[in-house]
Amino acid sequence: QAPKQIANEPIKSFGSADTKDWTSLDSSLKKFNSSPLHIPLVIDGERIYNEEKNRATLTQTNPADHHCALAEVTQANEQDILNSIQAAKDAKSKWSLMPFYDRAAIFLRAADLIATKYRYDMLAATILGQGKNVYQAEIDCIAELVDFFRFNVKYASELYAEQPIESSPGVWNKAEYRPLEGFVYAVTPFNFTAIAANLVAAPALVGNTVVWKPSPAAALSNYLLMTILEEAGLPKGVINFVPGDAIEVTNKVLGDKDFAAFHFTGSTNVFKQIYGKIQSGVVENLYRDYPRIVGETGGKNFHLIHPSANIGHAALSTIRGAFEYQGQKCSATSRAYVPESKSEDFFKELTSNLEGTIMNPVNTSATSAAEGDPHGFVGPVIHEQSFNKLVGVIEEAKKDRELEILSGGQYDRSKGWFIHPTVIKTTNPNHKFLSTEFFGPILTVYVYPDSNFSEVCKLIDSTGIYGLTGSVFARDRDAIVEASETLRYSAGNFYINDKCTGAVVGQQWFGGARMSGTNDKAGSSNILSRFVSIRNIKENF
Ligand code: GLU
Repeated sequence: QAPKQIANEPIKSFGSADTKDWTSLDSSLKKFNSSPLHIPLVIDGERIYNEEKNRATLTQTNPADHHCALAEVTQANEQDILNSIQAAKDAKSKWSLMPFYDRAAIFLRAADLIATKYRYDMLAATILGQGKNVYQAEIDCIAELVDFFRFNVKYASELYAEQPIESSPGVWNKAEYRPLEGFVYAVTPFNFTAIAANLVAAPALVGNTVVWKPSPAAALSNYLLMTILEEAGLPKGVINFVPGDAIEVTNKVLGDKDFAAFHFTGSTNVFKQIYGKIQSGVVENLYRDYPRIVGETGGKNFHLIHPSANIGHAALSTIRGAFEYQGQKCSATSRAYVPESKSEDFFKELTSNLEGTIMNPVNTSATSAAEGDPHGFVGPVIHEQSFNKLVGVIEEAKKDRELEILSGGQYDRSKGWFIHPTVIKTTNPNHKFLSTEFFGPILTVYVYPDSNFSEVCKLIDSTGIYGLTGSVFARDRDAIVEASETLRYSAGNFYINDKCTGAVVGQQWFGGARMSGTNDKAGSSNILSRFVSIRNIKENF
């Protein structure tokens, strides 16, 4: 029986009067900050540490304070990868035959544990490891994660309940929602603990077993999640936690005939490569089935501002869309189109609000990170590689005559990987800064003549390769309709008078098409249906 009504998990505000919350968070922060945690592999329920030193280890550092090591993460060797595949296969039969009620109970219990007993630990692991402020962490590793677990149970119940309508006299028909034959491979990103959780939990809920390669930059929060799932009753081998070299793990997994599905969030390039390899595997008759491929990848998400828009609201929404969590969301606003008549107001609003922002270690700025308050909301980007790449982009902008940096452009690597929110104006509507994804706090703005609204809609649609998220800001209904129609395939998540980030599970199904992914919509029933293979049974009486 499907739960009738599920409410989204509320977030805690962490206001200045919420002393109890701050004290609890503080003690969790101290715990993870005191000395690096040794993180094992978890294969068939067994913890494998690097005691014999026959494996590599990777250090996860705090991006806001990169001298501080948070975790020493054991990396799987070849045999470990093979063992994890075998463990997933061995656990399959029992898990897939377990009644749905019992599988669901495990994820619902895990959701409750995260919202209560482990709330502050999850927050601390995500804040310290992934460079979030407390507000962004609450949204991610508490609200969204818990919502995924609970809403998936509702969606799966509804899916299972759906049966063929027609049964003629003497005939009984039934749809059986089998899990896929084989195992699922999940490769998860650093930027949302919730997404990592959903990538492994959604296939498992409908009876699949999983080999999970977490992001090295999110090992701490992801390992904690693994332990919570175990405490909630997850049987051995159902989800195998396998940090390791991405190419090595992927090659081993894709070489196995029981590989049944790929569940991914990450960069477009990596997704394309793995997509191609899977297709070659199919052509070479490597697999029993056509593996399911479910991926959510990059974006070059837009804010289109019409002359009729409320400019103050559009500007603040753009700040939030572009710079919350340092622009490290696939959905982040990274290009904006502003009408000439309103551009001065828009830029004034943008720069005056951004001037006050300071680059701060996340955990000390967390108190002022409440919604709508940009002060102190600048955290670090995830790691040195990302920092260097973004600095390169900023330096390139400084030299390019078609680009003008209106705000930001500074960076500081002394303690953490800090880059100031950077607004760049371009005079070239086809500049590559309007089509290249940077995945960081860099926004490029093009100013268009007011009378060219229709042209600018077409321009946005034809710029670049992505189709993830986008927004139109307007009061004029004709303009909203025009943008919505012209940009029909430019965004899988289209927003009217709101920023293009922050999809809520069960409210905005998330995902994009074109080169942004397979658009299977996280937070909807659709994603679950990708991990089942239906058998139709007809019986004559
Ligand atoms: N679902 C998130 C949002 O709507 C973004 C997910 C991502 O970055 O992959 O902002």
